[in-house]
Amino acid sequence: MVMRRKIVAGNWKMNGSKDLSEKLVGYVRTEAGSLDNGVEVVIIPPAIYIRDVVGQAGGAVSVGVQNVGQWQSGAYTGEISSEMAKDSGCDYVLVGHSERRQIFGETDELVAEKVALVVASGLTAIVCVGETLEERESGSAESVVESQVRQGLSAVSGAWKNVVVAYEPVWAIGTGKTATAEDAQAMHASIRTVLKEMGAPAEEISLLYGGSVKADNAAALFAEPDIDGGLIGGASLVAEEFISICRYFP
Ligand code: PEP
Repeated sequence: MVMRRKIVAGNWKMNGSKDLSEKLVGYVRTEAGSLDNGVEVVIIPPAIYIRDVVGQAGGAVSVGVQNVGQWQSGAYTGEISSEMAKDSGCDYVLVGHSERRQIFGETDELVAEKVALVVASGLTAIVCVGETLEERESGSAESVVESQVRQGLSAVSGAWKNVVVAYEPVWAIGTGKTATAEDAQAMHASIRTVLKEMGAPAEEISLLYGGSVKADNAAALFAEPDIDGGLIGGASLVAEEFISICRYFP
């Protein structure tokens, strides 16, 4: 059986403070040391707090950034690059989160450009895909996600070990509605098939589920064979709940 990385990543979105970095990351670092299920804990704060979180994490917790630009340097006021994320101690970069796609108009082409830069920097891209409620209700969820995977990962050019896919149905993000474990598993299996068709080592690529994961639904999701972890929003801002989620791996 292939061993895939098990990952629980907390996306703080535009929340947090120096105080939260100190208290929450300090607690998570201590508790992460006693996890005996092989889970890698990742914290993804706003970019301005990355150095605080890296300092607090002390190597026991990995750190990521929520977004990077599609360039490595230059006259792009307000942007940061994957090289800067790496230089600041990040191992992970979220790419194509549905909030970036919906609020900031990011397209699959842009996602592909960013993924290429992230993997070239030696960081791992957590590439987010997922259908809207309308798409699910019209029966096109699988084809929408397939197209996001194919286009978003079109420029990986062999660096598959630097890719993680997060399936996050848009209707489940921040809404308190979660996909059933069976539906999430079915989509993960379909994503793995698409990756195989793309020539990727699909059995080695970690697939995370995101969308209102909480301490009371994590166990059922993480028990599914193709769900290798979670991308957690709201619940990652509460230290005890975040750590409980990390403990729910079989
Ligand atoms: C997310 O932001 O990726 C997310 C899954 O958020 P939440 O857990 O709050 O639904």
